[in-house]
Amino acid sequence: MSNEIKTQVVVLGGGPGGYSAAFRAADLGLEVTLVESRATLGGVCLNVGCIPSKALLHVAKVIDDASEMASHGVSFGKPEIDLDKIRDWKDSVIGQLTGGLDGMAKMRKVKVVSGYGKFTGSNTIDVEGDDGKTTITFDNAIIAAGSQPVNLPFIPEDERVIDSTGALELKDVPEKLLVLGGGIIGLEMGTVYRALGSQIDVVEFADQLVPAADKDVIKIYQKYVKDKFNVMLSTKVTGVEAKDDGLYVTFEGKNAPAEPVRYDKVLVAVGRTPNGKLVDADKAGVNVDERGFINTDKQMKTNVEHIYAIGDIVGQPMLAHKAVHEGHVAAEVISGKKHYFDPKCIPSIAYTDPEIAWVGVTEKEAKEQGLNIETAVFPWAASGRAIASSRTEGQTKLIFDKDTDRLIGGAMIGINAGEMLGEIGLGVEMGADAEDIALTIHAHPTLNESIGLAAEIFEGSITDLP
Ligand code: FAD
Repeated sequence: MSNEIKTQVVVLGGGPGGYSAAFRAADLGLEVTLVESRATLGGVCLNVGCIPSKALLHVAKVIDDASEMASHGVSFGKPEIDLDKIRDWKDSVIGQLTGGLDGMAKMRKVKVVSGYGKFTGSNTIDVEGDDGKTTITFDNAIIAAGSQPVNLPFIPEDERVIDSTGALELKDVPEKLLVLGGGIIGLEMGTVYRALGSQIDVVEFADQLVPAADKDVIKIYQKYVKDKFNVMLSTKVTGVEAKDDGLYVTFEGKNAPAEPVRYDKVLVAVGRTPNGKLVDADKAGVNVDERGFINTDKQMKTNVEHIYAIGDIVGQPMLAHKAVHEGHVAAEVISGKKHYFDPKCIPSIAYTDPEIAWVGVTEKEAKEQGLNIETAVFPWAASGRAIASSRTEGQTKLIFDKDTDRLIGGAMIGINAGEMLGEIGLGVEMGADAEDIALTIHAHPTLNESIGLAAEIFEGSITDLP
C-alpha cells in the first residue's frame, strides 16, 4: 500500500528535539507531520535514555540510603531484589510519559507517521512502515534523527557485551561487570548495577572520570566511590575474548592489570554517534560531515534554506534539554519568528551518587580561553543540611569573571546537586554578579544556600570555613 501526505512541516524523528519542534510548530498554527520509527514517541531520552536510567537510579538510591540507615539506628535488612518487578515499574514510567506524548500529538492534530523515513529529494521523504510506504511532500523539514551508541570494532558481538540500551533492559544482575568508559552514562549505569549487587570495574582512558568536568569536582567523586567501584584511570581496553565462562578483557595503560580479567558482562559506554548518514540527507542537498553531524546556523537551518536540524544530530552536548530548545527555535523560525539559538550556558548533570553538575564555563575551559577568573568554593562539610543528611562530601563552586564580578559558571557535587544547578544557570544567563547572589536570601538549612554562601566567600564576607 502506498500513501501520500502533503504537509507544511515534516519532523524526522520523535525524540525530545523532534516532538518539541512538532508541538511548537502545531501550536503556532502550522500543519505538522512527525515521522518516528520506534513504536512510541519520546526518542532515546524517554525510551532508552534519560527517563529509564533515572527510574533505575531512583531504585539504586533507595537501596543505598536504606543500607546507610543502620549506622543511624534503623536497620532494613538485606534488600530482596525482584528484577521483573523493577523492570515492570521502569517500563510503566516510560509508558506513562510516551503515552502522554501520543495524547499531546493528537490534541494538536500532529499527524504521526510510523516508520523509517529517508529523503528522496529536496521536498520529499519516503517512510517505510508496517503499513507500507508513505511519501511525504513538505514545505519545510526538521531533521531530528538523534544518535546511537558507539560500538568498538575490536569487541566481539556477544550477548554479554551490552550498550546503555542493553543495560537498561535489566535482563540480569551480572556478578562482575566492566563499565568501559567513565563518562556520565557509564557511571550512571554502574551506580544502578552496583546497588543491585554487581561488582563494578570502571576503565577510563583519560586521567579522570567524567573528563568534561573540573578535576577538583571529580576528585571528590572519585574519593567517594573508591570503595564502591574499582576505577582504572589512564587505561584502555585492547581486547575482549568471549569464552564459555565469561568475557576475558585485556587492558593497557597506567593501571592495567597484567593478565586478562574475566567479567560476566561488559557495558560499552564510550559515547554516541549521530545518525546523520542514515537519512539520505544528501538527496535533499543537505551537507553531512564525516562523523554524521549536520551543521546548522543559529536558527537551526542547514545549508538548505527550508531544511533545519536539531538535537544530537547537530552536535555536542548531546542532551535532551538542548534538543528541546533547538526544536523550539526551528519551529518558531519556520513560523516566521526571528528567533535564534544562543544560550550562554547549557547545564550538564551526572545523576550518579553523589550527583555531579556543572553549567557555564568550567575552570578548565576558562584557563584554555585565557579568561581572568576567580573561583569561590563552599565545602558542604560546613553545611548543616549536609551534616544532618550524613552527606558532607559535596562542594559548591562558583566561577566569576574577575574584572566584572559576574558569574560565568559553576559546579556542584553532592546529593541533589542536579536539582540545584538551575540557580547557577539562571545567574549566568541573566548576568548576575556576586553581590546579586550573595544578597539573595537562601532558605536555611538547605543545600542550596551553599550557592549564596559561595558568593559571600567571593565577596569576602565569610572567611572562617573549616
Ligand atoms: P533522539 O532522542 O535520539 O530521538 C531521535 C528519534 O528519531 C529516535 O526515536 C529514532 O528512533 C528516530 N529516528 C531516527 N532516524 C529516523 C528515521 N530515519 N525515520 C524515523 N525515525 C527516525 N540527556 C539528558 O539531557 N539528560 C539525561 O539524563 C540523559 N540521560 C541519558 C541516558 C542514557 C542511557 C542515554 C543513552 C542518553 C541520555 N541522554 C540524556 C541523552 C538524550 O537521550 C539525548 O540527548 C536526546 O534523546 C536527544 O534527543 P534528539 O531528539 O536529538 O534525538
